[in-house]
Amino acid sequence: MTSPRTRERLIQRLREQGISDARVLAAMRDVPRHVFVDEALASRAYEDTALPIGHGQTISQPYIVALMTQSLLHGGRIAKVLEIGTGSGYQTAVLAQLVDEVYTVERIEPLMKLARKRLRELGCRNVHFRLSDGGDGWAEHAPYDGIMVTAAPAEPPRALLEQLALGGRMLIPVGGPAAQELRLIRRDETGFGSERLEPVNFVPLVSGREKIKN
Ligand code: SAH
Repeated sequence: MTSPRTRERLIQRLREQGISDARVLAAMRDVPRHVFVDEALASRAYEDTALPIGHGQTISQPYIVALMTQSLLHGGRIAKVLEIGTGSGYQTAVLAQLVDEVYTVERIEPLMKLARKRLRELGCRNVHFRLSDGGDGWAEHAPYDGIMVTAAPAEPPRALLEQLALGGRMLIPVGGPAAQELRLIRRDETGFGSERLEPVNFVPLVSGREKIKN
């Protein structure tokens, strides 16, 4: 079921869970999540769950996408965002509705290519793709007002902290397979501040040295 009513039910559920930013709710109403999963799973696309996207990866749960996006936008105007872990491209598409430019990095080539094709078909023209180890960020376009990491490292990678603008915000899941927490990291003239948001369950941020298993 991908009908408007099914989609509206998801938005209502997000509201009940505390997502109050009208821009985020509108973007999530507009972006068709069923386009970002395999056809066989399209009927489940508006359930509030993560779903497999192949290569051992998952499309994030809508509530977590909404929470991270809302937390990113909360501090003020965010123009340029770096996303690590393109995956299906769903979070990318939501961000593309809300900020000026999105730079997104993925290490699995077929996922990157499919996400790029989907976003092109949806008419997103403000997204830039890169195939590489996201732990290194994307220095060429730094600094970023926002950094959104959708795979979990043991600790926030130094390169990402360095590429965050003063006044910028990073949303990042941190921890191992047993326990992860979503953190909001803020940077100002005095350094970095970190706030724990809630327990989460992301796939690991794979280090560039590990072999890609497709
Ligand atoms: N936001 C995505 C989440 C995908 S899962 C979505 O909702 O679809 C996390 C993604 O991070 C996977 O596609 C995985 O391949 C990618 N990933 C893991 N480690 C990475 C790394 N070091 N660099 C870039 N991408 C990475």
